[in-house]
Amino acid sequence: MQLQEVIAFDKHSYMNTFGDRLPVMFTHGRGMSLYTEEGKEYKDFFAGIAVSALGHAHPILTKALHAQVDKLLHTSSLYYIEAQAKLAKTLTDRTVADKVFFCNSGAEANEGAIKLAKIYHYKKGDGKTDIITANRSFHGRTLATVSATGQEKYQKPYAPLMPGFSHVPINDIAAFQAAVTPKTAAVILEPIQGESGVHVLTDEYLQAVRDICTKNDILLIFDEVQTGMGRTGKLFAYMHTPVLPDIFTSAKALGGGVPIGAVCAQDFVAKAFSPGDHGGTFGGNPLACTAGLAVFEAFDKEGLVENAAEMGTYFQTCLSAIAPVRGRGLMLGVAFPGRAKEIAGALFAHGYLVGAVGDDTLRILPPLIVTKEDIDLFVKELKEIL
Ligand SMILES: *Cc1c(COP(=O)(O)O)cnc(C)c1O
Repeated sequence: MQLQEVIAFDKHSYMNTFGDRLPVMFTHGRGMSLYTEEGKEYKDFFAGIAVSALGHAHPILTKALHAQVDKLLHTSSLYYIEAQAKLAKTLTDRTVADKVFFCNSGAEANEGAIKLAKIYHYKKGDGKTDIITANRSFHGRTLATVSATGQEKYQKPYAPLMPGFSHVPINDIAAFQAAVTPKTAAVILEPIQGESGVHVLTDEYLQAVRDICTKNDILLIFDEVQTGMGRTGKLFAYMHTPVLPDIFTSAKALGGGVPIGAVCAQDFVAKAFSPGDHGGTFGGNPLACTAGLAVFEAFDKEGLVENAAEMGTYFQTCLSAIAPVRGRGLMLGVAFPGRAKEIAGALFAHGYLVGAVGDDTLRILPPLIVTKEDIDLFVKELKEIL
């Protein structure tokens, strides 16, 4: 089908939640590149919103998926699943988590984390039900995660929201302390806020929040849906700090493009879930978990988390010479007040995919396979555009 026909079908039959998309349709990809049917190449510096950590058509991932598709797609969690057990073991071996639960998206992972925090306090019988999150946070599109998200634009049409959520400004320890009540059950934070424009929470703030949580039996939940899986130069962003979360969530890059999410928790919290307390039909199915295992295999064989750290530092240095940069590793926001949309549009016209947050921030999230040469070409193009 030609692009114009696809657009006509879309306008006719697809719910208009995304508005006018960029007028392009990709039919295949390889490495850093996406291609249209006519063979026009775009360098992907957005990775499908921080999903395609291995780039496109990575041989380790495609080979593993081909083999699994030929054998088995789905069985349900009524039965034991080898890939599910192995991926859970991989995540617990490499993180502070002792137990993992798989679902299908970031919102669903955060939804699971909220339920786990609530049932932990319910079973203790301490009456704690409330949750603190940050202003400008983003935690997903389900009703509970919209309630958690500290942005009015996502909440307003869906009132009344789930009760018990309050929101605080980031990096303000006094404001956090003031928001804590005897009913506070948990706090949810993105170590680096992604969707709202790459805002970094300081180590000092995270440590202070950790201390207040520990003192008051409040669960500390990190939403690592975007910061996780190597993007910041460590497997999860909390690993840059001395702070350990009680629960953290993952999704986006975890399946390298195959939908999967994870709720990851320390044992003392995880054991609040008893049989029947939570579940899901698709979560952790053989295909999705095979994808997750292949992502870890590629990370290890190709040193991709280390590459994210190195290339992130290099990229940040190059960009800092042009405009102020926020972020860590390959999760970068560049400040172009009043010009971000125009610059993103010009990059698109020159065959580069990036994001823009409002009109002030260019958002750059390349695959973890990005090389120095890719970055040099991008920076050269950006300079020419400016
Ligand atoms: C993208 C994102 C989510 C939501 O993930 P979905 O897979 O779209 O449901 C939640 N939290 C953060 C930090 C995200 O970046």
